[in-house]
Amino acid sequence: MAIDRFGRRIHYLRISLTDHCNLRCIYCMPEGMTFHPYAELMQDDEIFIFTRLFSGLGFDKIRLTGGEPTLRANIVKLVHGISHTDGIRSVSMTTNAVLLSKLAGPLAEAGLQRVNVSIDTLDPLKFKQLTGFDNLENVWKGILSAEQAGLGPIKLNVVVVRGFNEPDVVELARLTLQHAWQVRFIEMMPFAGKTDFQTGQMVTAAETHSLIENAMGRLVPVNDQTLDGEARRFHLPGALGTIGFIYSVTAPFCGSCNRVRLTADGVLRLCLLRESELDLLTPLRNGASQDQLRTMVLEAVYNKPWGHALAQGEIPLNRVLNEIGG
Ligand code: SF4
Repeated sequence: MAIDRFGRRIHYLRISLTDHCNLRCIYCMPEGMTFHPYAELMQDDEIFIFTRLFSGLGFDKIRLTGGEPTLRANIVKLVHGISHTDGIRSVSMTTNAVLLSKLAGPLAEAGLQRVNVSIDTLDPLKFKQLTGFDNLENVWKGILSAEQAGLGPIKLNVVVVRGFNEPDVVELARLTLQHAWQVRFIEMMPFAGKTDFQTGQMVTAAETHSLIENAMGRLVPVNDQTLDGEARRFHLPGALGTIGFIYSVTAPFCGSCNRVRLTADGVLRLCLLRESELDLLTPLRNGASQDQLRTMVLEAVYNKPWGHALAQGEIPLNRVLNEIGG
C-alpha cells in the first residue's frame, strides 16, 4: 500500500492520456504550445503496465484526463483494459465533452463509470470567447449522452475567470433545479505558460458563492459541508442537483489528499501544485523490473509534499496545465 510520510493513504491515480486538446481555453494552453511527439507519450501497453503496477500497490481509483482524453486513439480499448485490471474498482474521466455524444455509449460499455465535464458558460458567444471554438452545442449533446449512457452522477466543472464568466455562474447553478447534476465551481490555479492570467483573473470560491446567493437566495449546506472529494456542497431549495465549491487556492484540502498523477509522458507528479516529479517511463523503457518500479513509486509517494505553497508564492512552473490534466 502506498502511504506518504504524513500517513495519508494514496490510492487514486489520475492518468493524463495526451497533452493535445480540441479546445484552447484562455486560462490553460499558452500560445504556440509545442506538444510531445507521440513516441514520447506512454503507449497503450505501457499504460496497461503502469495500471497493473499501481493497482498492485493498492491504487483502486483511476481518473483519465488530458489535455482532452477523448482525443486519444483507441480510447475505448484503453478504458476497457484499465477498468478490467484486477484491483481497479473506479474509472472516471474529465472531458470537455466535445466528442462525447458519439463516445459515451461505447465508453460506458467498456467500463467507464462517471464523467466530469468542463464547461464554463451556457452562452454560445462566450463559449467561443473562452475556448476559441463554437462547440457549446456539441458539449451540451455530450453531457446529455453521458447521462443517457449512465455515466453519472454527472459533475460539471466550472472554472470562474474574472472579467469573463462571473455572470454565468448563476445560470450554471440554475441547472441544478432541473438536473440531478453536481455543478462545481473551481478556483483557477496557476501553472507555467499562463501564470499571470491564472493568478490575476482568479475568482475565489467565496465570491462565487456570494454571486449565486445574491441572485438565487441562500444555499443550503449538504452533509454539513463535509468535503465530497474536493467540493463543499450545497443545494438550492427544491433542486434536484447540488452546487459544489472547490477552494483549491484559498482553502486547500491537502490534509485529505489521496492522489498522485501520471502525465502523458509517463512522469509521476506527486502534487498538482508542486514541481516534484519522477520519470517512470524512461526506466520502464530501459528494462527496469516491476520490483524496481514498485520501489521507485513507493519511495516517491512516501516523499509526497504535504500540499501546495501558493500562499507563500510558490507556483509550479515546470509544466503547463494541459500537460498535467488538472
Ligand atoms: S494541491 Fe497537492 S496535496 Fe493538495 S490536494 Fe492537490 S494534489 Fe493533493
